[in-house]
Amino acid sequence: TQFRLADFDRLAVLGRGNGGTVYKVRHRETCALYALKVLHEDAGAEADILGRLASPFVVRCHAVLPASCSAGDVALLLELVDGGSLDAVSRRRGAFAEAALAEVAAQALSGLAYLHARRVVHLDVKPSNLLATAAGEIKVADFGIARVLSRSGDHCTSYVGTAAYMSPERFDPEAHGGHYDPCAADVWSLGVTVLELLMGRYPLLPAGQQPNWAALMCAICFGEPPALPDGAASPELRSFISACLHKDYCRRASVAELLAHPFIVGRDVLASRDALQQLVAEA
Ligand code: ADP
Ligand code: MG
Repeated sequence: TQFRLADFDRLAVLGRGNGGTVYKVRHRETCALYALKVLHEDAGAEADILGRLASPFVVRCHAVLPASCSAGDVALLLELVDGGSLDAVSRRRGAFAEAALAEVAAQALSGLAYLHARRVVHLDVKPSNLLATAAGEIKVADFGIARVLSRSGDHCTSYVGTAAYMSPERFDPEAHGGHYDPCAADVWSLGVTVLELLMGRYPLLPAGQQPNWAALMCAICFGEPPALPDGAASPELRSFISACLHKDYCRRASVAELLAHPFIVGRDVLASRDALQQLVAEA
């Protein structure tokens, strides 16, 4: 189908962020629902990267449309992920039960494995960029700062993204020889995300502390992740989180290793999926 912006009705705002505004839209002719991300700045890179991806674990981009607001703007016509982002689910439902969390981690890892195999690094993994469907599927979204690695080198030095989810070697590249392995950086961010959903709040600062740059720098580069109280997590989940949050990126687990971790392979797949579905469903 050839889509035009004029063929859609805007129904609601789904989200606003640095990258743009995301609307829930309906295609008038077919009544099909989509998400439309209207990008504020030139975001050719996001469109380019999304255009080459097709995975059940990555939000699908159906078309890139020129947006009318100003020259150079584009809008991405995305599959509508009806359960919204995990930060919203967590705000609505509180801390995630471990079964649901195992399913989130398993599917997010499948998404990262798909991306990394295509030399795409996300660099902005966090709860607001993981979307859930009412059927209990997780989709990696927001490729606003993602990049394709060049063949020549595995390392990159870009310094963008959300500081709170940034790994120590991205926060302070000088301390690590000025470069880092961006795939390992995605693993760190996933670890912080899983811990956040488990605790029901941002985990690396004391509750209530403002996440300013200096406090984050101290916590991420020099602090230790919070000790979880007894009974707050199974040994498998504790081990999974510490494997993601190794400060030394050379010792951090890879996506492939994490997919084989007991927390992931040991989960009851049906029960986990069900728990996630329950959590996403509106109360
Ligand atoms: P930004 O670059 O501004 O962070 P995102 O792509 O992360 O843009 O989208 C912002 C928010 O909009 C997300 O956190 C989510 O709540 C919502 N959103 C984005 N894409 C979709 C989608 N395909 N389906 C449903 N909600 C979406
Ligand atoms: Mg986002």
